[in-house]
Amino acid sequence: MKLDENKQKYECLAEEIEGLRKHTLKNRTPYSDDKLGKPLAFWTKQERLLDKVGKELTIILRTKGCYWALEHGGCSMCGYIEDANIQNVPSEQIIHQFDYAVQNKITEIREDSNDYVLKIFNSGSFFDDSEINKQTREHIYKKVAEIPQITEFIVESRIEFITEDNLMEMKKYLPDICIEIGIGLESVDDHIRNKYINKGLTFEDFLSTKELCDLNDVGIKAYLLFKPPFLNEQASIDDCIHSIKTLIDLGIESISINPCNVQKNSFVEYLWYQNRYRPPWYYSLFECFKKALNSSTLQKTRILCDPSGAGTKRGIHNCLRKECNEKMREILSQFILSQDLEILNEIEYDCICYSRYNLQKDHL
Ligand code: SF4
Ligand SMILES: [Zn+2]
Repeated sequence: MKLDENKQKYECLAEEIEGLRKHTLKNRTPYSDDKLGKPLAFWTKQERLLDKVGKELTIILRTKGCYWALEHGGCSMCGYIEDANIQNVPSEQIIHQFDYAVQNKITEIREDSNDYVLKIFNSGSFFDDSEINKQTREHIYKKVAEIPQITEFIVESRIEFITEDNLMEMKKYLPDICIEIGIGLESVDDHIRNKYINKGLTFEDFLSTKELCDLNDVGIKAYLLFKPPFLNEQASIDDCIHSIKTLIDLGIESISINPCNVQKNSFVEYLWYQNRYRPPWYYSLFECFKKALNSSTLQKTRILCDPSGAGTKRGIHNCLRKECNEKMREILSQFILSQDLEILNEIEYDCICYSRYNLQKDHL
C-alpha cells in the first residue's frame, strides 16, 4: 500500500488503536501477589553519565499501567501495557518491588568505585498517583538519598502529571542529585507525534513543561522515536535530525533516541504482520548522528540510545547477518559511552546490504 493511502486510512488512527487495545486487554487477568511483590526487571550495567562513563541501576516497577494506554489505547508503537497489572497495585507491593531490587544490588553498588544513575521506569508515569502514589514516591526518594553512589536519578512521566508540587517534593528529598524526567516527546513535529504515534501531546505543552522543570532545577531526558509508522527510512532520518537539532537548541539536557521496535500487540505489530512496517536500519541511525551532532553540541546535550531488540527482525537491524549487526551494535555502544563522534568513522559500509539499503531508502 502506498504511503498516501496509508495516511488516509489512518486519519482515525486513535480509534483503530483503541479498538485493537480493547481487544487485546479483554481477557487479561491480574498478576499473583508473589509477582506483584517483585519488580518486572532490574539490572546494573555500564552507562553514560552526564559527564563520564559510570553505571546504571535500572528498576522496572510493575504497576497498574499507563493511563493513556488503558483509557485511550496508547501510542502506536507501545506494547508495555502487556506487562502491566491493569488493576491497581497496592503501594505496599510497589514499595516491596523497589526494596527488593535495591537490597539485591546494594552491596554491588556500595563496593563499586563507579558513580551510578538510578533509573526507575514503570512503563507509564511515575507521578501518576494511580500508578505510584505520593507515599511510595517519598519512600523511594528517602532510600535514594541514603545511597551516595547514586549521583543521577531518572524517572519518566507523561506531562499531565509533572506538576510544580511533584517537582518540589522530589527536590526536597533529593536536593544534591541531578534529576531528569524522561518525557516521550517522540518528534518535534505535532503531526507525526499525534497522527502517526497517537501521543496526545503538543509541542507547545512540552515547552511549558520544560519551563516548569527549568524553574525547579530538574532536567529533561526527551525520548525520540526513530522511524514511527507511516514514515519511510528517509523521512524518518529527516524527522530525527530536525528533532535532535531543535531539542539541542532548546537546551534539553539528554536526548534518548529510541529506534522503533515491534512490540507485542502494538499497532506497529499489526502493520508489521502485514509487511507495512520495517524497523529502521542502523545505517539510518548513524546518518542522523552524523548530520545532527557536532562536538560542541555533545558538550551540552547527552545523546543516549540503547535499542530494544537490536539485530533482530523486530528491532533495528541491517540485513540479518549476525556480523553486520554486531559491528553496528558495538560502534553504537562505544559512541554512546564516549560521546565521541570520531567513533562513527569506524563504521564499515562493506556489507552487501548497504547497496540494497540505498536503493530502498525512500520506499521502506
Ligand atoms: S509510549 Fe508511554 S505514553 Fe505511550 S502508551 Fe506507552 S507508556 Fe503510555
Ligand atoms: Zn548487512
